[in-house]
Amino acid sequence: MCYNNLNCRKSLPALSLSMERISLLMEKASEIAASLLSWYDRCARSMPWRGINNPYYTWVSEAMLQQTRVETVLFYYDRFIARFPAISDLAAADESDVLKMWEGLGYYSRARNLHRGARQVMEEYEGILPRNPDLLRKIHGIGPYTAGAIASIAYQVPVPAVDGNVIRVLSRLYGIRESVQQPSVRKNLDLLAAGLVPLDRPGDYNQAVMDLGATVCVSGTPDCGRCPLSSFCDAFACGDASDLPVLPKSKPPKTEYWTVPVIRCRESLLLRLRKETLLQGLWCFPMLSCQAEEATTYLEKKTGLVCHPSGSAAPARHVFTHRIWEMTVLPLLTEDQLPMPGEERWIPYRELSSLAFPTAMNKALLVAAQLFGVEKSFPAGKL
Ligand code: SF4
Repeated sequence: MCYNNLNCRKSLPALSLSMERISLLMEKASEIAASLLSWYDRCARSMPWRGINNPYYTWVSEAMLQQTRVETVLFYYDRFIARFPAISDLAAADESDVLKMWEGLGYYSRARNLHRGARQVMEEYEGILPRNPDLLRKIHGIGPYTAGAIASIAYQVPVPAVDGNVIRVLSRLYGIRESVQQPSVRKNLDLLAAGLVPLDRPGDYNQAVMDLGATVCVSGTPDCGRCPLSSFCDAFACGDASDLPVLPKSKPPKTEYWTVPVIRCRESLLLRLRKETLLQGLWCFPMLSCQAEEATTYLEKKTGLVCHPSGSAAPARHVFTHRIWEMTVLPLLTEDQLPMPGEERWIPYRELSSLAFPTAMNKALLVAAQLFGVEKSFPAGKL
């Protein structure tokens, strides 16, 4: 069914949803929730953090799932929980250990925030996450979505958890054809989301919307034929689901060019603990903004290190969400492990696997191993 006149609406300029219209739509709320829960009972995806009612597990899983697919998270989640089975274990850990357990998952600020939040929960809440979403939001790294997820899933508090998946489902369900990034539209979406959450089984309901958005009401072309909400859905009736939600055009990622010297001295490599926001606290090779041909001169001038190339340079590439690193990997040898003036350190091969090493640098290391001709003895690929 179409809540508005389809033929007229498509030519209308963007209109804010009125409170009147929201009320009208909310009359369907209990039917929508019931249909969704019935579908969830049949089709819920099995995940290790489900059905446990442990707010810490919900928190860890939701932190990992931000920007990351469930299939990827499964391995990391099990390993993380095995290493830090309770908030107290996480709070007591060194940040380097936490980052190591996060290695390869990306978006490392999530791990740092989780760690800081765990310490805050130990100090302020005796190690127990509060059930009140407003209090949850005051914990480091917990935003409105995660607060809603923890409160509803672990404590059965009837509050929504609105993320990109939920916004997509709701904008189609209710035919919201305005930019969902407009504050007024987003406010209406939050109202609609809150009005749909049932008092009974709010956690299952929120997880059902997440599953629907991830498996059926996907971005691009949704699989409306399998959707339990198709009889309620405005976009399905109007035939424009693949155009929704309306999002502003995203900026193309910025490309950065780096010369990455991989410097060997006997059985050690020169690495630097990053201080920059991106990949902060992880170990990286030195990254130089000069050309590869100028790298040895630059290094000698800055550090006194005398290096010579061991083969020619080769490219490696890593794509982050908003930037791309185009790296020229330069294999260099040096005779002396001079102490470095900055944050660089000589790290023996045998210690590399215990350090948090980002995927971008593992790519550079793999290239360097080939350039050095030491694929078998080099630690590349084992990090
Ligand atoms: S009917 Fe289609 S567009 Fe509407 S909620 Fe279901 S999958 Fe999404």
